[in-house]
Amino acid sequence: MSVDRVRLAETLAWAEARYRSCDVCALACGIDRLAGERGFCGLGAEGRVYKEYLHLGEERSLVPSHTVYLAGCSMRCAFCSDIGPVKAPEAHGAVVSPEALAARIAQRRREGARNVNFVGGTPDTSLLFILRTLWRCPEDTHVVWNTNLWTTAEAVEQLRGIVGTWLADHKFGNDRCATRLSGTTGYGARVEARLLQVASSGAPLIVRHLLMPGHLDCCTRPVLGWLERQIPEASVNVMTGYHPYRLAGRGGKMGGGLEREERAAALEALAGTALRSRLVDGVEYQPPA
Ligand code: SF4
Repeated sequence: MSVDRVRLAETLAWAEARYRSCDVCALACGIDRLAGERGFCGLGAEGRVYKEYLHLGEERSLVPSHTVYLAGCSMRCAFCSDIGPVKAPEAHGAVVSPEALAARIAQRRREGARNVNFVGGTPDTSLLFILRTLWRCPEDTHVVWNTNLWTTAEAVEQLRGIVGTWLADHKFGNDRCATRLSGTTGYGARVEARLLQVASSGAPLIVRHLLMPGHLDCCTRPVLGWLERQIPEASVNVMTGYHPYRLAGRGGKMGGGLEREERAAALEALAGTALRSRLVDGVEYQPPA
């Protein structure tokens, strides 16, 4: 899917205006990022890239994928793999100009990238920088928006015609786990509303769900059940590579790894759904005969 240049120009103007009293993600900090003020994400208008490469481990339909990791985030997951750049963006990566990133996107494309995949953190908090970069990219750039979806209906609407593939998380099956593990309030209602919105946007949707130790019944089963009922046409990728990171050694199931029995039960639950496309770690799932 190509980037709609008319829409891109409109969304650029919208984002520039919204940065003056920032509400481009769910947190609506209301600060003036163009004047250098910082909200929860810790970002101004600049783009801070802390790594980028040609990724071969994303979902099979996306690779090779040029993943661009942008510092800053709207959430604070206890098991985050990139907590340094997420919590303290100013101390990680480098400020990169839209021109420089567009040149790197062109280079990665020549090297075989099928798309450019904005992630972090989350791309939502770096919205203006990404749009300014895309303005300098060819129209046929395929944009993957690798997001936690902790964002607004308006921001998602503004990205219609720009995002080529939505790669969105559904992490938690209830708000108690969501609040405890990510600091969010009202996770289910917001993320599920955004999932329904992107599912009807016309761009393909891949939903990721990371298996978390001890969260089969409270998170994985409810998430899979909701997806099956509400968006059966979505591709759902169950990810089994949980690592505790800073929870390691702190006790409790989340401080260790995923047990084999729990993984097997989660995959059995996935196999029992009528979802159109079921993936495990990015590859089409073939349930054991
Ligand atoms: S993008 Fe950053 S400054 Fe803007 S509302 Fe979200 S957390 Fe706050």
